[in-house]
Amino acid sequence: MKYAATFLFLTASLPAIAADLPPDEAKGPAANDNLNAVLWDQTAVEAKATMVQAYALARIRFDEALADRSRTADPAVQTGDFANKPPAVVLDVDDTVLNTSQYQAWNVKAGTSFNPKTWTPYVNAKIDFAIPGASDFTRYAASRGAKVFYVTNRTKEEEPATAERLKELGFAMGDNVDTILTAKEQEDWGSAKSTRRAFIARDYRILLLVGDNLGDFTDAYKGSVEERQRVFDDNAQHWGKDWIAIPNPTYGSWESAAYGHDFKTPPEEQRQKKIDAMKAWSGP
Ligand SMILES: [Mg+2]
Repeated sequence: MKYAATFLFLTASLPAIAADLPPDEAKGPAANDNLNAVLWDQTAVEAKATMVQAYALARIRFDEALADRSRTADPAVQTGDFANKPPAVVLDVDDTVLNTSQYQAWNVKAGTSFNPKTWTPYVNAKIDFAIPGASDFTRYAASRGAKVFYVTNRTKEEEPATAERLKELGFAMGDNVDTILTAKEQEDWGSAKSTRRAFIARDYRILLLVGDNLGDFTDAYKGSVEERQRVFDDNAQHWGKDWIAIPNPTYGSWESAAYGHDFKTPPEEQRQKKIDAMKAWSGP
């Protein structure tokens, strides 16, 4: 009887307790479209395994390309006689060599999204994790005589903190050469990266491109979902050979492709367009 009375008291009280809480607390944490992606990117050993695999493949492909002087990973910008140029590898920074999931996790918790006003202080905090396998790969490439270039859309102002963090995490640095090429560091260096890779190709033979975004490999990354598929298909000979992709489900041009890369699209409309972009089973 005593238990039954307690049970009755509790069940009678629950709606009252819920009614006393602000509506959001009663429902639990607010939904966030990036929660699972960021959780995976930061905590899943399955994520780490894919990154280790990518860099293990990069090492094999690096050795092959080093031995074959007729090869370049970037025929779009590497023209003329490059066989005797010294070797280089080109890597993106964010979520290719440095994991920025703590910034994404902060956005999930704060209910915010990417903003240069919060991004720069994040970069300056120098707390990025290393992508598993990345640091070892760059040191390996450097030990075999390759220059390791980091082509990033971080800004010139963010370069000192980026360089310090890369160095702390054991990445190969450029010694007397500036190997961190940031956006707008030179007049024709926009967020599309081919002008920076062309700059590298003037003096080096590019053996490998490594990135988490289609834009790390080609400037044709801002198309629709269908157009990007065609770009992927047209470059079939590169994937897994001299273009190595690192998985990033937390952001990228794949995400904005669903809503035409128009970042002013309201969040609810972005979500609807993403749902519309997926082919789905018709159901049982
Ligand atoms: Mg990136």
